[in-house]
Amino acid sequence: MHVLVIGGGVIGMAIAYEARRQGWSVTLVERNHCGQATSRAAAGMLVPVTEAQFGEEEMYHLNAASLDRYPEWVERLEGETGIPLHFRTMGTLVVARDPDEWGYVKHFFELYHRLDPAVQLLTPREAHRLEPALSLNIAGALYSPGDHQIDNWQLIRALREALVRGGVQVLEDTPVERIVLADDRCTGVETARGLLEADVYVLAAGPWTHQIPDVREVLPIPLRPVKGQVLILKPTATAPMPERVVRGFQAYLVPKPDRLVVGATQEEVGFDPYPTAGGIYTLLEGAYEMVPGIYDMTLADILVGFRPTTPDHKPILGPTPVENLVVATGHFRHGILLMPITAELIVEYLRTGQVPTALRSFLYERFR
Ligand SMILES: Cc1cc2nc3c(=O)[nH]c(=O)nc-3n(C[C@H](O)[C@H](O)[C@H](O)COP(=O)(O)OP(=O)(O)OC[C@H]3O[C@@H](n4cnc5c(N)ncnc54)[C@H](O)[C@@H]3O)c2cc1C
Repeated sequence: MHVLVIGGGVIGMAIAYEARRQGWSVTLVERNHCGQATSRAAAGMLVPVTEAQFGEEEMYHLNAASLDRYPEWVERLEGETGIPLHFRTMGTLVVARDPDEWGYVKHFFELYHRLDPAVQLLTPREAHRLEPALSLNIAGALYSPGDHQIDNWQLIRALREALVRGGVQVLEDTPVERIVLADDRCTGVETARGLLEADVYVLAAGPWTHQIPDVREVLPIPLRPVKGQVLILKPTATAPMPERVVRGFQAYLVPKPDRLVVGATQEEVGFDPYPTAGGIYTLLEGAYEMVPGIYDMTLADILVGFRPTTPDHKPILGPTPVENLVVATGHFRHGILLMPITAELIVEYLRTGQVPTALRSFLYERFR
């Protein structure tokens, strides 16, 4: 079988990787350079518990199942490429700066504690003891010790390297200009390199998936970009890193071996690619009020990403009305976390022709 994947973010690359593991012939087509869009702007938090929402238990279970698969993926990718992914259990502190925020945190504690009994509430002093970089001027904190994270920049490098080493044809600087359809089948994709043909096509172009000509017309995918601005800070001798993920109501701080990621705004402004003064102010104010030491850090970069978002905030995964066209997008805030399970379920569907039970709530047909 020949599989052609459109889009080289973590989702497209992971599907290409998993498909290649089946022994299939795989082509991945990326309009720019793999992994440099949404997947690069992400913070790499792998946190099913402290991202859980009331009434979204289905998403929690998918997220948790994907996290369970991470250790095996990390071992394989690190083994094949020698690139360390810095996959770590780090724990998250959710910080309340005032009584209002504390009320909100206590409300969410009920949900988080039900999902993971190890989650606990801490006084400001207890939180400070756990994370010395934290301000004492807070109302309290919630601690989720089981949360994980990964260095998503390293993950991108490793996935790309594993694809090339594994014999996947990776075509970069190759925008898909149109998918060609005939009688409810996809017969090829038009690119500047000419028509590319395969047996099965996977649409994984992140927040741009619905814009590809002929997808737009034939397969209306209800997708919108939710903009996120992110700051990359570098610690200095006088401004050490926090040791844990610190999350607040205006910003979160995620320490990586070589940088501190401060994110993220959540804006409904379409594909506006520019950072804004207000966005950066919001992030810096929120981060500074929790971890004052960031004041002395170097501001190394500002990133803007677009979360691929559906009306119900769940991904769209699996078959479409076009017989040999499969979709994997809409991962919103959880695409890094959902990478392993997305790839495994999509490839299971391609292998068996049966929709796996775990995919049933995430099918395209729920929007028809
Ligand atoms: C600020 C921010 C923080 C985030 N933090 C986290 C986090 O901590 N944890 C987490 O799990 N998730 C996080 N996310 C979400 C996560 O980043 C996304 O869900 C995930 O990256 C989506 O991956 P993707 O491969 O679908 O999209 P992308 O990474 O955008 O990849 C899609 C690719 O398709 C390519 N493409 C588009 N059109 C075409 C075309 N016509 N032809 C060829 N190629 C095309 C693009 O160039 C791009 O490379 C965050 C997102 C943002 C924006």
